[in-house]
Amino acid sequence: AKLEGRNRFRFFSSDIDSSIRHRHFLEQQMRSALEDGIFEVFYQPKVDSKSASIVGMEALVRWRDANGCLISPMDFIPLAEETGLIIPIGKFVLQKACHDTQELIKEGRQLVVSVNISTVQFLHESFLQMVNNTLLESGLRPEFLELEITEGVLAKDISHTQHILSSLRERGIRIAIDDFGTGYSNLAYLKRFPIDVLKIDKSFVHEMLFNKSDIAIIEAIINLAQALDLELVAEGVETQEQANSLRSLNCQILQGYLFSRPLPFIEFRDLLWETTTS
Ligand code: C2E
Ligand code: CA
Ligand code: CA
Ligand code: CA
Repeated sequence: AKLEGRNRFRFFSSDIDSSIRHRHFLEQQMRSALEDGIFEVFYQPKVDSKSASIVGMEALVRWRDANGCLISPMDFIPLAEETGLIIPIGKFVLQKACHDTQELIKEGRQLVVSVNISTVQFLHESFLQMVNNTLLESGLRPEFLELEITEGVLAKDISHTQHILSSLRERGIRIAIDDFGTGYSNLAYLKRFPIDVLKIDKSFVHEMLFNKSDIAIIEAIINLAQALDLELVAEGVETQEQANSLRSLNCQILQGYLFSRPLPFIEFRDLLWETTTS
């Protein structure tokens, strides 16, 4: 038993060792990716469910490794949060998103851009200043910027969060709650904080046509949004049936592979021109 214990210990210890080495390796890669400017920002359209026109887009960070393969943000955002690298990465994404959106506005496209803000980034001391500077540098008017935060932020430091959210609101920046319904369950925050948009999480949308509880949750979220006068976005819309159903439930804005995958800016801009009706 002793030997087994020792072996087991050794096994665990080398396991931890190699995962630390791997994380260290990834962290180094991330740092040089930042220095070399090889992070990218893709855009996925948000579509009006009635008119089918593009009303906005979500900015999503992309990292292409040395072989040209895209690494999913789900694989590096958590490590970026732990190491603090999310601060420069998040700043880069916001700068690029504001800059690109301002380009579109100059071309006569009035679109709102949504940028994901991680909790670590939101709570960082320089956050407000960074957002203000980025708007000034890009020339983008604040009403064209929407920040997507998750319910987790709202459960952290309530008075600090309230201060940040009110400052953003005073500037005219919009606030969306991402992955709504999957996190913090105390809904009282919806009246306490200045929030503009709820995003129905894609996990509910996926099975909504087959799963009674998912459709019930979606209906509840839609009722809540209507009662509180919040805008609604459903994400992860992949089929025409899902889109039809969400439209008939009065969900105004849809986002998902049915309309488009996230695209590099150039391709997103082409898509905008192709889908123009006027
Ligand atoms: P999220 O904010 O919930 O973003 C939606 C994710 O769903 C994106 O994955 C998007 O590509 C994907 N998606 C869009 N339409 C569909 C669909 O119809 N079906 C399915 N199955 N998926 C769809 P992505 O780009 O891989 O990002 C994953 C997560 O990584 C994001 O989830 C967000 O939490 C985080 N993330 C991405 N970009 C950033 C960023 O710039 N900053 C921060 N802090 N987090 C980011
Ligand atoms: Ca999001
Ligand atoms: Ca989401
Ligand atoms: Ca998410």
